[in-house]
Amino acid sequence: MITNSIQKYTWFDGCFDFILTASEMSVFFFYRRFPIAIIKRHFYNETKKWEPLTAEMKHQIENYWSDKINRKSESAAVPSKNKYYILSMFPYPSGKLHMGHVRVYTISDSLARFYRMQGKEVIHPMGWDAFGLPAENAAISQNLSSETWTKSNIEYMKKQLMKLGISFDWQREIATCSPDYYRWTQFIFLKLYEEGFLYQKEALVNWDPVDQTVLAEEQVDANGCSWRSGAKVQKLPLKQWFIKTTKLSQSLAEGLQEMTEENWGDIIKLQRHWIGECEGYNFDLPLKEVDQTNVTIWTRNPESLKSTLFIALKSSHILVKPDYRNPSSTILKINAVNPLNGHLLPVVIADDLDYPEGSESLLGDPLADKKISELATQLNLQLSANEHDQRTAEEICQKALSEDWGGYKASSKLRDWLVSRQRYWGTPIPMIHCKTCGTQPVPVNQLPVFLPASKGEAKGHSALLNNPDFYNVSCPKCGGEAKRETDTMDTFVDSTWYFLRYLDPTNLEAPFDPKRAAAAMPVDIYIGGKEHAVLHLYFARFMSHFFHLLGWSTEREPFKRLLVQGMVMGRSYRVKGCGKYLKPEEVDFTGEKPVEKSTKKPLAVSWEKMSKSKFNGVEPESVWNEHGIDTMRLLILADVSPRSSRHWSKDTFPGILNWQDRLWSIMKRWIEHQKQEKTAISSFDKALLEKQENLWYDARNFYLKGATFSIHHSQQLSVAISKMQGLTNNLKKVPNNFSLKNSLQYERALGVQIIMLAPLAPHFASEMWTAFVDNAPRLSTDFAWAKTVLDQSWPQVDYDYNLDLVCFVNNQQGCTIKLPRSQLDTLDEARALRLLQQDHLFIKYNSAQKILSTKFDHYPGMDATLAVITEPKKKQKACS
Ligand SMILES: [Zn+2]
Repeated sequence: MITNSIQKYTWFDGCFDFILTASEMSVFFFYRRFPIAIIKRHFYNETKKWEPLTAEMKHQIENYWSDKINRKSESAAVPSKNKYYILSMFPYPSGKLHMGHVRVYTISDSLARFYRMQGKEVIHPMGWDAFGLPAENAAISQNLSSETWTKSNIEYMKKQLMKLGISFDWQREIATCSPDYYRWTQFIFLKLYEEGFLYQKEALVNWDPVDQTVLAEEQVDANGCSWRSGAKVQKLPLKQWFIKTTKLSQSLAEGLQEMTEENWGDIIKLQRHWIGECEGYNFDLPLKEVDQTNVTIWTRNPESLKSTLFIALKSSHILVKPDYRNPSSTILKINAVNPLNGHLLPVVIADDLDYPEGSESLLGDPLADKKISELATQLNLQLSANEHDQRTAEEICQKALSEDWGGYKASSKLRDWLVSRQRYWGTPIPMIHCKTCGTQPVPVNQLPVFLPASKGEAKGHSALLNNPDFYNVSCPKCGGEAKRETDTMDTFVDSTWYFLRYLDPTNLEAPFDPKRAAAAMPVDIYIGGKEHAVLHLYFARFMSHFFHLLGWSTEREPFKRLLVQGMVMGRSYRVKGCGKYLKPEEVDFTGEKPVEKSTKKPLAVSWEKMSKSKFNGVEPESVWNEHGIDTMRLLILADVSPRSSRHWSKDTFPGILNWQDRLWSIMKRWIEHQKQEKTAISSFDKALLEKQENLWYDARNFYLKGATFSIHHSQQLSVAISKMQGLTNNLKKVPNNFSLKNSLQYERALGVQIIMLAPLAPHFASEMWTAFVDNAPRLSTDFAWAKTVLDQSWPQVDYDYNLDLVCFVNNQQGCTIKLPRSQLDTLDEARALRLLQQDHLFIKYNSAQKILSTKFDHYPGMDATLAVITEPKKKQKACS
């Protein structure tokens, strides 16, 4: 009786080893080779019977379909014109998926499955943003290596994503902590160096004087004390690497002009604000007394360089340090050199000048303003009367650009990107410091600079500082003794280019093949949280502009459209008057308002971002163990737009649970009808049949149109779900004594219902589809009967179904003109306007007025809108 089909089985609480499939009806569970239970299988694909839906059955269905719906996608190496690149921000492998992950990847998977059904060649990759301080700290606290910790987290989270039914292209998987990946991050770093986009400069870091270590911003508490030692944190200058992102700021600002409000929303504003107005220029003036150090000045007027007499700094500027200060004067001991004419410029502390926004330095050009001129007089500095420099601003900038001391447009407030981190768990910076030759890049053929293994990382500072084997090297130029850079890169560098590596993840010759990038870019839709809408997007855009400059990519802008998803919030309970958060089990819900169980104190109840410290988090596993994967997917997608915050509450569960039950019972009744004896239709029934056919024809088209629009044009998956539920309600209503056996339109509508559900709830829809195919009279030619639901083409609105041309006149909705789809699809603006001008209401009220402007939005297969603005109506003369 026991067949040979052994299924490898992983239950997520990890109790069960495997299952042996026994008869068609039952399953043995084995725990370490001992049979412990026989569970009866109920689901259709096993029994060919449509039994009532239970949570247990959902699990069985999901186990049955799990590998079938996640089969490997076969996207081409060089994508075709038909590609659709769906990118979701890759996770930081923190341990387990949280509800925010479930949300973003469910949205991403639903869109990927939808576009595959639309016939697109979908690129849907996944990887791991695997370096970073939190992993390093977690590993230290557990006395593990960062690598072991990170790899085990990746393994676990990957299993969870597969369990969730997310159809990623796993053959494209990357992890930024893998040498195969960071080798190319280092290569790109060297390319930036070669192209003059990288420099070293002193910057202030947080210094813990007790632990003698550098701290990241997040390790300094609100009082400015170290999280570890509690000591007051000091600011110390340290030489660090900067990427000259400001050099491309004008290009980045221009790129924003290509973005539409529809595709980027308010992120355009955030990016624009971050970059600032590029209405001036940066210049780097070297210091005479200090090697390889310069002072960067921003000015609106490059000609000021001709007449500047000194450099003014705010006292907070990093160069105003004790070594350079004069005890008796505001003039520092250092001088800047004016690269335009070689003049020496004194450097002066002057806090009361008008500095540009965000700037701490300015040119002491006495012609620029009165305060500067007065200060020059005080300092006894004056313009030489016999010097006549005729160079224009443009010539000065050209000279600076060609000699690499600035001259590019930027805003005054934008800073270059400090990328050095004094931490272990990051991409090693491929630089070597030689006393004789200065800083030297690691030769490209010696990449990667491997991050050495390290067990139980050094406390307080980077383990690389304890590793002479790592840092003692010979100079690539003179061969003498030299020291390798021990800082690692900011993890934001790793994530500037991961979406390009996905396209060519095993390339051994280059970061990626430009041909593949040209074919696959830009990303069609990028899904992620708003917390990355400024910095990550800015850095990734910078890198993409840089690659464009190098000729590595044809697209300057990497992301065509953004879907910034809202947070998942949990309900939190805090004792009023103090900050103490309570666990739900510590709350007494029996009264009118919840109170603390032990003290009966009143509570402040609010929705906040899920977090361990607020006890308001929900483990995704607990939800899918209770209700099943697809129910959870539908729960996270339903009710609110992907862009809004999601309040996670059990109160919202019945809506989805009931919908699944309704679908199940619709299917049951339909199967029963198919099994009835065929009867001749009486003339009375014929009339009823015709009436019902029309109703279901309309319902099919109406809800299909709405759901398709909501997924494709607005990504409002919650609206799509409510459209699908609308169709369900129509399928639910069947007159008494009416046989569904003869209804073509019911069959078509039911098929569409299941197909539309498939991208969102792939296991559940697959199960329904099997029963549908097995039992359908196949009156319709719409479906590929031999294929699974996920292999169906997305259904089409019928060509004779009437769609709407909605007309707005002077910002008010005027008329709605009905047109069959066959006509609406080929409609253009001129014809739409003629149709409006033939409308009787328009003729009556507006025909005398001249049309000033028109705007036509056309969504073939769905709707069209025409907005018209006319001349104002002439006022009628008042009766005298
Ligand atoms: Zn050397």
